[in-house]
Amino acid sequence: MPRFRPAPFVAPLIASLWLTCAATMVRAEPVADVHALAQKEQQPLLDTLRDLVSIESGSKDIEGLNQIAERVAGQLKQLGGTVEILQPTDIYRLDDTPEKIGPAVHAVFKGTGTKKIMLIAHMDTVYLKGMLKDQPFRIDGDKAYGLGIADDKQGVALILHTVALLQKLAFRDYGTLTVLTNGDEEISSPGWRSTITKFASDQDAVFSFEGGGTDGTLRLATSGIGSAYLTVQGKSSHAGARPEGGVNALYELSHQVLQMKDLSKPEQGLKLNWTVSKSGTNRNVIPADATAQADARALKVSDFDELEKALQDKIKNRLLQDSKVNLKFEVRRPPLEANEASRRVAAYGKTIYQELGMSLKVDEKATGGGTDAAFAALKTSGAVVEGMGLSGFGAHSNDAEYVQVGSIVPRLYLATRMIMDLSTGKLK
Ligand SMILES: [Zn+2]
Repeated sequence: MPRFRPAPFVAPLIASLWLTCAATMVRAEPVADVHALAQKEQQPLLDTLRDLVSIESGSKDIEGLNQIAERVAGQLKQLGGTVEILQPTDIYRLDDTPEKIGPAVHAVFKGTGTKKIMLIAHMDTVYLKGMLKDQPFRIDGDKAYGLGIADDKQGVALILHTVALLQKLAFRDYGTLTVLTNGDEEISSPGWRSTITKFASDQDAVFSFEGGGTDGTLRLATSGIGSAYLTVQGKSSHAGARPEGGVNALYELSHQVLQMKDLSKPEQGLKLNWTVSKSGTNRNVIPADATAQADARALKVSDFDELEKALQDKIKNRLLQDSKVNLKFEVRRPPLEANEASRRVAAYGKTIYQELGMSLKVDEKATGGGTDAAFAALKTSGAVVEGMGLSGFGAHSNDAEYVQVGSIVPRLYLATRMIMDLSTGKLK
């Protein structure tokens, strides 16, 4: 991540030259009040971040999630939003979905314009209660350390202070500015995926504040993750005395797995690999049950639909007619696909960064795991940009997770300017 440095000041030699230059130089200089306020906002943001890190909020820690939701909602209320803490009602139950899912905070700021812009981040972490004491908030040089600080408490703090900055600028040219922070991202958002999709569907732009990696790259695509669960039911029988009386679930499972082993399409990024299996209880018993799991990855939403159809088709062909075969496919996270609107917005982000004398990377090749941005993108034709958060490192690690303090001002400036210029139509 390049450090912030102000754009070089070019002293004009004569006044008239300065005047002619001024018009063309406008875009090359940071917008002064926005930049000055972003600098003033750094310390308050760090104070918020300290508070957020100090509340443990693992995805299954409902008490902690309620506490952080109250904290976030309180700050959004102070900023003048219409705020509610929501409890999940429409739950997409995944294999590992806990019984209880944490809340989400939803805030709407009404403006005088027409554009609809949404900011998202998640409040939950992968950590278990009690780990905070080994990784409390602390600042050391350009790094702010803390449990869950990069993933994704910085995102929540950055949203809160972007809204604060807009308020200090008395900027209200947007139609609505919506904030949504959920408490279940790290468990694949079973409780909030449909809400994110719904709220995002009519937005002109959705900005997702996961960390920007070590170099602040904006991401327009992420890969989708799916899993397939195969269950075979046979019939047990004595393997020595009466094997013919059983239906060997392991044989059927093996047949199924082998006929479903070549469904990957590497040229389009679709992958299906069988990775886990289990069957049988005793050496001398024909197994009555067998299960297997596969890991699936895709770059296009439609690939998962087609893959599921192919899998359901395949299981109709059985080796043992008396066995029962069931296949469940779950989309843990759909892929995020880049669209024209997101490309335009990200490209504009590059020009904003140039005003600070910095360069901004944009990546539209999907890498690594997915995020909630993918749910936001499912039903919108607006822009969805991921990675708006601070630069940092060490997400999901047990020590040394940090964010770069030097990325706070540029990121506040970027988010604020994007919202302003989208609202006023400068950024189309
Ligand atoms: Zn995250």
